[in-house]
Amino acid sequence: MPSYQQAIRVASKRMEEKGISSQTAMLYMSELAQMESYNLYMEYQNEVPEELLKRYEEGVERILNHEPMEYVLGYSWFYGYKFIVNSDVLIPRPETEELVANILADIDEYFADEKEIQCADIGTGSGDIAIALAAEEKKVHMTATDISESAIKVAQRNAEENGVKIDFLVGNMAEPLIEKGLKLDILVCNPPYIPVDEQLEESVRDYEPHVALFGGSDGLQYYREVFKAAPLLLKEKSMMAFEIGYNQKEALLKEVEAFFKGKAKGEVLKDINGKNRMLFVYFNCK
Ligand code: GLN
Repeated sequence: MPSYQQAIRVASKRMEEKGISSQTAMLYMSELAQMESYNLYMEYQNEVPEELLKRYEEGVERILNHEPMEYVLGYSWFYGYKFIVNSDVLIPRPETEELVANILADIDEYFADEKEIQCADIGTGSGDIAIALAAEEKKVHMTATDISESAIKVAQRNAEENGVKIDFLVGNMAEPLIEKGLKLDILVCNPPYIPVDEQLEESVRDYEPHVALFGGSDGLQYYREVFKAAPLLLKEKSMMAFEIGYNQKEALLKEVEAFFKGKAKGEVLKDINGKNRMLFVYFNCK
């Protein structure tokens, strides 16, 4: 049996040859072996148990075909919580964790006096945003929608596994929220925002759900849909929070102005990589 070091070396070399980050070989082993990398290093010269090696090698073959590691594992981590993922849902991204962190900071700043905060997440996918917000902030009453019934099934399981209660609704964008007559303090949405003709990495293009990725010819179609629905859904004092494409800041701030004409304050925040990644729209908050 090879040692951990040998098994990881072989896998990382093969991944590199295919243009896949060689760190994935290490990460995948630490997830399968359920060891943090520092523990894995201590085991480095030891033999990999047979059963583990078999699972590792099978998974590595799938990863070499550009299948994302998270789908191979069947789960992903987001904001410290574990989320089941499969090809029905987008894999949660680190940028989206920053969106959640900023919403939580805004709750403390603008909604500190509210006993209950009505919040909705449109296009919830795996449920990552909705579940992390509800788990972190007990005052939040969360409703989450998705057009994909199979995505909602995944999100429901994730809510159960993480011990949070969320109202899930299947339907297009804001429609189920409007039908329910909800009045929201906070509307969150990480819509599909990639322009249809943009080139994507193989792992994303071939494995992740296209319904969760593409946002029309300029990528902005779903923001416009949400902006249009906003007056029907939002309380007088309220806010919206969106993840955005790194190059969509100017276009989206223009849309905010065109839709809300000075009634709203639009702000774009950068992520830790210095990219414009989050749009916040405030109504009578500041
Ligand atoms: N809300 C999910 C996420 O942020 C899914 C988003 C989507 O499918 N576009 O990861």
